[in-house]
Amino acid sequence: MKIHEYQAKQLLRDAGVPVPRGIVVKSADEAAKAFGELGGTIAVVKTQIHAGGRGKGRFKEHPDQAGVVLVKSADEARENASRMLGNTLVTIQTGDEGKVVNTLLIEEGVDIQDELYLGIVVDRESGGPVLMASEEGGMAIEEVAAATPEKIFHEPIDGGYGLHPFQATKLAFRLGMDGKAVRNAARFLPQLCRFFLDSDCSLAEVNPLVVTGDGTLIALDAKVSFDDNAMFRHKAFAELRDLSEEDEAEVKAADTGLSYVNLDGNIGCLVNGAGLAMSTMDLIKLHGGEPANFLDVGGGANAEQVTEAFRIILSDDNVKAVLVNIFGGIMKCDTIVEALLTAYDKIGFSVPLVVRLEGTNVELARKMLNESGKDIITAADLTDAAKKVVGTLA
Ligand code: ADP
Ligand code: MG
Repeated sequence: MKIHEYQAKQLLRDAGVPVPRGIVVKSADEAAKAFGELGGTIAVVKTQIHAGGRGKGRFKEHPDQAGVVLVKSADEARENASRMLGNTLVTIQTGDEGKVVNTLLIEEGVDIQDELYLGIVVDRESGGPVLMASEEGGMAIEEVAAATPEKIFHEPIDGGYGLHPFQATKLAFRLGMDGKAVRNAARFLPQLCRFFLDSDCSLAEVNPLVVTGDGTLIALDAKVSFDDNAMFRHKAFAELRDLSEEDEAEVKAADTGLSYVNLDGNIGCLVNGAGLAMSTMDLIKLHGGEPANFLDVGGGANAEQVTEAFRIILSDDNVKAVLVNIFGGIMKCDTIVEALLTAYDKIGFSVPLVVRLEGTNVELARKMLNESGKDIITAADLTDAAKKVVGTLA
């Protein structure tokens, strides 16, 4: 689950990590008022969307308007806010369709001496969280990662203890800090890591981490995602969810107990089991097709779930054919066919449907399919199914 920058900053503040003062607003007048309340000569107007790259992003409606802007008066804050609110911001992370801005964070302007990069992710290689840090922070970190990856330092984080003091100090020196900044880093870095561990984050990124003229460290940006599988341990985080930022079909699928991820292709997939879903997508691609989604109905799907799964797949206009791939293990093939036929009647199919079944009660299930009189293409095995479904598009 992703959250907004202003929410992440509140959580960081609570965890003892320094962040700038800011006020959340939803109208241009509130933005102007917030400038006055912050009381400084410089403030920053920041769009709140579930994507980064806002500083370099531009609005569809106002091609010169960026998503993060420094302002020097209440009027300037109002003008920028009115060009942002209700409009669509396109950044390197939003895709071409962009994201509609509904909320702004008005933040005090910070005296930036140095912009560094910090990020914590779960690292497959070390099998735990790892803290990444670089001197090359700011808005071009993607380019640094691609061109000069050696400029990004890695420290594995002890999942129980957190970041050890010697690791924090070592990183601070490698980041070119001295004096007071090193002492501040010795507190800041372990606190950020502690926050990551305690909150079951899957990502915590501070880019930029700012060192001010007097050696103070401040998290100027904050991007936090939580591990969905740990949300039961953090009931309070539920209210941080912003459904308007999420894919509607994915939300609906999750509510029905389905694992669904929307993709760019045109072959809808309905599969039971995540591993089988992955290999189904692989085979579609191997035979020249592109999957429109990943969908795992799970081991014990019922008719209702299968119906909902079809509804979700077919509501995607890009879907030009559907492949159902079922391995009857815990689930019996005839049960799934019964659900499939019910769903077929309820929803009605306007695109070709290819079905591949294997496993428990497969003979009975095939018989049911053949006798149904419905326009369903059956496949002998997975390769045959992939070829057939790609073939329907030719
Ligand atoms: P994004 O990563 O989405 O582009 P950031 O929050 O990192 O958004 O902001 C982009 C840039 O704007 C930062 O690299 C920094 O230079 C500047 N900036 C952001 N917040 C402030 C602030 N409170 N004071 C001064 N400059 C800021
Ligand atoms: Mg940033």
